Amino acid sequence: AAKEAGRGRCEYFAPALGERSRRVVSVEHELRQALQRGELSLDWQPWVRVDTWELLSAEALVRWQHPTLGSIPPAEFIPVAEKCGLIGEIGAWVLQRACQEAQALFGNLMISVNVSPAQMMRTGLLDDVRRALQVSGLAAERLEIEITEGIFLDDTPTAMSNLHQLKSLGVQIALDDFGTGYSSLAYLRRFPFDTLKIDRAFVRELLTHHDARAIVRTIVELARMLGMRTVAEGVEEPAQLEVLRRAGCSSVQGYLLARPAPAEQMRRLMDSWDPNSRPDPGDLPASE
Ligand code: C2E
Ligand code: MG
Ligand code: MG
Ligand code: MG
Repeated sequence: AAKEAGRGRCEYFAPALGERSRRVVSVEHELRQALQRGELSLDWQPWVRVDTWELLSAEALVRWQHPTLGSIPPAEFIPVAEKCGLIGEIGAWVLQRACQEAQALFGNLMISVNVSPAQMMRTGLLDDVRRALQVSGLAAERLEIEITEGIFLDDTPTAMSNLHQLKSLGVQIALDDFGTGYSSLAYLRRFPFDTLKIDRAFVRELLTHHDARAIVRTIVELARMLGMRTVAEGVEEPAQLEVLRRAGCSSVQGYLLARPAPAEQMRRLMDSWDPNSRPDPGDLPASE
């Protein structure tokens, strides 16, 4: 149906709708409205250093609260925004907003912002980042851009050039969802990422699958030797944390420490954060 709708239009069947009210929704239209009506917002999710249990950084995650469809997750609308050509506007808004909230509320905490492949390939990205830093007054060194391996799929030279230009602004670059994409190791040789984020898929199986544990250990060791920090995503249990600590993983993120929440709540978390509150490992599976 989306193709028949013609160029410039982007229709999509919204799975968020219940059986009763199902219809094809023009997400392009809804998303444009979303920006204008101020339906987008940001949640923040911290990462913490494994050794000292200090807050290191916080990741901005975009949220869309639609008046009738309710809350629509980014995994649903970001791909649509990419197809509709709306990712530029949305991405610019996210960058701007994230830098402003961080500068206003987070002291010297680092922040990270997700940039999707289609956004990375746009020529305007660099200007968007520069403007967001300028308008907010946030120091470039406090900003990290999270990208996925998907950016290398179509046009590696452009992706590389954009990454190098971003780095020359002083911002840091994280490789997100590491281990789920393609030819990961080749890209690690070709670009000096500051951070490697180990995908939740590995963390999820850490306690039950020896192979997941072996892969995580190897990723951590590789990252260490290449001078990158590692962040394990989706840490939910103290025992996972303990396995990651033993593997030498430098930081963790996940529901175990905090769920994503609006900036004011993130600020309160920062104020009440206790570095002595690292959870007990509890019962670990037999170690090899
Ligand atoms: P991501 O960047 O890998 O973000 C991590 C996702 O895992 C987030 O989902 C987060 O809420 C969730 N998560 C964090 N800790 C845990 C945990 O312990 N357990 C479980 N089950 N989940 C956890 P979210 O916010 O729905 O975002 C999904 C994806 O959408 C992100 O994956 C990112 O790829 C994309 N995304 C989010 N915000 C933006 C944005 O502003 N711009 C772009 N381009 N993409 C975004
Ligand atoms: Mg991310
Ligand atoms: Mg991730
Ligand atoms: Mg992920």
